[in-house]
Amino acid sequence: MYVRKRALDRLAAEKVLYQRRPGGDLSVCVVYPNIYRLAMANLGFQSVFHIFETDSRVAAERAFLPDADERVDMRKRNERIVSFEQARALSEFDILAFSISFETDYLNVIAMLRTAGIPPRRADRANSNWPLIIAGGSAVFLNPEPIADFIDLFLIGEGEEMIPEFLARFHQTRTSKDDRPARLRELATVEGAYLPDYFTPIYDGRGHLEAVEYCGPGKPTVSRRLIRDLNQFTTASLILTEESVFGDMFLVEASRGCQWGCRFCAAGFMYRPIRYRSPEHLIAEARRGLTERSVIGLVGAEMASVPGVAGIAEAVADAGGRLSPSSLKADCISPQLAAALARNGNHSVTVAPEAGSERMRKVINKNLSEAEILAAAEMMVGTGVENLKLYFMVGLPEERDHDVREIAHLTGKILARARAQKKSVGHVTVSLNPFVPKPWTPFQWDPMEEPRATKSKIAMLRGELAKLGPVELDAESPREAYFQTLVSRGNRRVGAILERLDAAHCEGAGEIWHELKRIAREGAASGLPDPDFFVTRHFADDEVLPWDFIDHHIHKWFLLAERKKAHYEHQTPPCDVTKCVVCGAC
Ligand code: SF4
Repeated sequence: MYVRKRALDRLAAEKVLYQRRPGGDLSVCVVYPNIYRLAMANLGFQSVFHIFETDSRVAAERAFLPDADERVDMRKRNERIVSFEQARALSEFDILAFSISFETDYLNVIAMLRTAGIPPRRADRANSNWPLIIAGGSAVFLNPEPIADFIDLFLIGEGEEMIPEFLARFHQTRTSKDDRPARLRELATVEGAYLPDYFTPIYDGRGHLEAVEYCGPGKPTVSRRLIRDLNQFTTASLILTEESVFGDMFLVEASRGCQWGCRFCAAGFMYRPIRYRSPEHLIAEARRGLTERSVIGLVGAEMASVPGVAGIAEAVADAGGRLSPSSLKADCISPQLAAALARNGNHSVTVAPEAGSERMRKVINKNLSEAEILAAAEMMVGTGVENLKLYFMVGLPEERDHDVREIAHLTGKILARARAQKKSVGHVTVSLNPFVPKPWTPFQWDPMEEPRATKSKIAMLRGELAKLGPVELDAESPREAYFQTLVSRGNRRVGAILERLDAAHCEGAGEIWHELKRIAREGAASGLPDPDFFVTRHFADDEVLPWDFIDHHIHKWFLLAERKKAHYEHQTPPCDVTKCVVCGAC
C-alpha cells in the first residue's frame, strides 16, 4: 500500500492555483502515460486536465504511469493502476483521456490499459461498457497510427476549443450509451476528431501502405485544429509541485510554432502559422508566477524571437526573479536580453547551433552563421553567463564525416572566444542527439542513420571534445533514437510490435532494442514487420505515408521542395505571416 501512500503524499504537496469545482456526473480520468514528475512538468497535460476539471459536467481525476519501483511491486502483487485522486479503478470511468506528448510513450499507453485491466485492443472493447478511450497531444497530432488499434477516438490538434466541443457532443449522445459504434460516429463529427474505424489501411505484398479505404461521411481526411489567438487562453503552471522536473519554476507558454522552419523540427511545421502571446500578457503571467516561484520558465520552440522578450526578461529581473527561456537562437539574442538574463544569478544559457559546419546549417535551414554563434557566446559570457549548453545533432541527412568533426571545432572556437573575455567559463555541455526523422517535416522521407554509425560518430566526438578541457558530452543513445523513429514513422502494423514489447515487459532503451533485434532476426516467423522497414529505410517521394490522411494545411509539395533545397544547401527565409502564403498554412 506504499503506492497509495506515495500518491497521498504527492497530493498533499501540490499547490493548485485555480478554483476547483465540484464535479459533474461525467467521470473523466486524464492519463499521462509516463511518471508523475514528468507529467507535472508538462504544460499540455496540466492544461488538458484543467479544461476537463473546470467543466461543470465533469468530475475529473488524473492517472500516471507508476514509478519504476512501484511497477515492479505492482507486477509482483498483480495490482491494478488506479486514479491518482480517489484510487478508483480506471475501468469505472466514463472516459479515459490520454494526453501524449512523446511518441515513445505509446508503449506505456498499451501497458497502462493492460495494467488497468482494460483490454488494450479497440476490437476487444466493442459493444461493451468499457470506458471510452480517447487520446490527444502533440505525438498524436503528428502520427497516431502506431496506436490506432488501441484508441477509440483521437482528437487531433490543440484542445482549447476542441475538448469543450467534444464534451458537449458526448453529453448529447448519453442516451446512445449502449450503442457504442453509433455514439462514436456522432463524436467523430467534432472537427479534429479521428475515428480509426473509418480508415482501413491496405498493404501490398511487401508491407508498403498502398492505400487507405475510408467508410465515413465527407472527405477521407482529418483537419487538425489550431486556435488562432493565443492571448484568449492562458497556458501556464496550474498545479505546482516541487517533485516536478521543473519544480523550482513557474512555467509560461510564450508561443506555438516557430518562424524559422528548421527542416528536422516538427514544431516548426505542425503548429504553423507561428503564434505568439503578447508581451503584456506574458509580463502579467510572469508577475503572477513570481508570487509562487523566483524562476519563470518561458516555454516554446525558440524564445529569443518572441516579440518583447528582452522587456519580459527585464520585468522579471526588476521584480527580483529570473527568466529561464527554453532555447535561444544565437543571432536573435540582443545585448539587452543577454544583460537581463544574466541578472539575479542566471549563469546558464542554452544555445542550439544544431550543426557544427556552416554547410550543414544550410542543409537544415538554420539561418545561422558561425560568426553569429561566436558573437552570441561572447556576449553571453561577457554579461556574466558562466555555463553554456550547446545543442547539436548527428546523423542528419546529407551529413559527411567532416561536418561531424566541425561540432568539436565549433565548440573549441566558442570556448576560445569565451576565454578571451577573461571571464570564467564554468561549464560547457555539448548535448548531442541522433537525428530522428519526424512526420510533417521536409526530412520525413529520410531514414535514421544505422545506430552503429551514429555510435562511432559519438565516440569520435567524445575523443575530440576531451581535448578541449572542461567540456561535458551528454549524448542520447542511438538505440533510444531507433525506437523513437520506429514510433514516429510507423504505421498501424507497429501496434503489434508495441504489444510484443509490452508482453516482454521491455522497459528502457536497452531492453527495447534487444527485443526489436530479436523480432528482426525471427523474420516472417514473428508475424511482425521488420522494425528497420520504418527506421532505416528511405521512404519514396510518392509513397503513401501513414499520416497523409491528417490535413495539417501544409502542401506536401512544399515539404518536398524544402527537402530538395536541403540537398542543394539552399536556405528558406523565416516566415513572414503578413504576406506569405507559400506553404498553405496562412
Ligand atoms: S504560409 Fe508562409 S509565413 Fe505562413 S506558415 Fe507557411 S511559410 Fe510561414
